[in-house]
Amino acid sequence: MKIDYIDTNSYYDWQPGGENHPTQGRRYKHATRVLQQLENEGVVEVNYVTPRGPFLEELELVHSDEYIQQVLSDGECDEWSGSKPDQSAIAAMFFGGTMLAVEMVQGGAQLVVNLPGAKHHAMRTHSSGFCVFADFAAAGIRFADTYGKRVAILDIDVHHGDGTESLLKDRTDLFSFSIHEKGIFPGTGKVDESNKTNWIFNRPLKSGSGDLELQNAVQDFVEAALEFKPDVIMIAGGADGHYSDPLANLEYTEIGFARAARLVKEAFPDLTFIFSGAGGYTPDDFTPAMWLSAILALAGKSDEEIINLEIVERVRTVVSKRGDLYAPQWVSADQEPKELHTEILPGLFMGGTADDDTIEYAKPLSTFEHGIPFDAVVTLYSWAQPMPWGIEELRYGFADAKMSHIDEVRLHRLAEWAYARWQEGKKVLIRCQAGMNRSGLVSALVLMRADYSAEDAIKLLRDKRSEVVLFNDAYVDYLIGLEPKN
Ligand SMILES: [Zn+2]
Repeated sequence: MKIDYIDTNSYYDWQPGGENHPTQGRRYKHATRVLQQLENEGVVEVNYVTPRGPFLEELELVHSDEYIQQVLSDGECDEWSGSKPDQSAIAAMFFGGTMLAVEMVQGGAQLVVNLPGAKHHAMRTHSSGFCVFADFAAAGIRFADTYGKRVAILDIDVHHGDGTESLLKDRTDLFSFSIHEKGIFPGTGKVDESNKTNWIFNRPLKSGSGDLELQNAVQDFVEAALEFKPDVIMIAGGADGHYSDPLANLEYTEIGFARAARLVKEAFPDLTFIFSGAGGYTPDDFTPAMWLSAILALAGKSDEEIINLEIVERVRTVVSKRGDLYAPQWVSADQEPKELHTEILPGLFMGGTADDDTIEYAKPLSTFEHGIPFDAVVTLYSWAQPMPWGIEELRYGFADAKMSHIDEVRLHRLAEWAYARWQEGKKVLIRCQAGMNRSGLVSALVLMRADYSAEDAIKLLRDKRSEVVLFNDAYVDYLIGLEPKN
């Protein structure tokens, strides 16, 4: 299914409270970059659409004149101090994006995504919870009043959708269902605040709830929505229920989130969907990955397909191109090893990929066209081409950045896998991009299983491969801090 994806560079400049504020527009950029990769690989069909600003009468559907004036003319609202007309303009664009989604649905679109939409805390007369303009409530009203369509809003952001609810609570022709963590901001959304006559539902979850509880709650949404008989479903897909999120305490995973979205899609296979991102405060990995996982599920991808796409690794790879998140000091080209691969100990190789061995060039593995001297390969660079037939390969793509970007369980599994094969007498290659940091990290872990100390392992790798192996200090500190393996 084609995805209509509303996006523009100015979305990425959203930063209402500065650099240390949880809300960062770069999460949209990361999602877009990965979606573009998936499109280039033929995984999804995407139609990119530039948003428009809102029309005054659209804002007036949900906001008072004074408030609209205060934000748009004075550049002021409660989400920042002083006047920030640039942020006001971006907030208006988020709203306009969702209103454009309404028109696109009227024009026949099946799945429209406006990630910065679903600003579900915004109220008639004031902003709240990083939300300036109440786009979902306005879109619901527009669908109902202008086009006679019944809209069901499913809000799976970890916070109660209090703004959307308060703006729609007097309407009997619009449906809102919020699944959120109990007892956190904004403090509302108790079960007894539901009002079935007006199709308002609240389904709070206890802190620590995970994928299963989410799915059960979504099942309740499905049953209520089947009764309501919507024409359009709008999902406020906040990613802040993810286990990593700093602002809340639920335990959703990316694949659990995808399953929740798929449950709705399977219950309403013929309906049109609008998906927006609402909250999500791990901008450099899980927030974009959560969103993309749900979008892929809505576009018809299976769990297995989504898992195999390694979305989190892709986000991290995209992010690692940002200088400020990049831990190592890059070395100059003449310090890089001349050899593509180096034998560290008999049968144990460490190396990188050739330039034409990456997906950017999409060529077959020319480097190895005359046969491969390895039996088993560990690949740590997500853009490296897969190994040809007959070579065992274990892949875990991760950014050459901080240790916090790496799943340690996976990391040690890689070393265990490589060590076991090496001990069987197989020729093993551990490879990353240039063959220095990521491959150095895993190679050192393999050597440490062969009773090398961290210091001796690092020295051996530097003696054999290059003196600048493991110039990423974060990796060296990690290796030296490890307990000795017995
Ligand atoms: Zn939230």
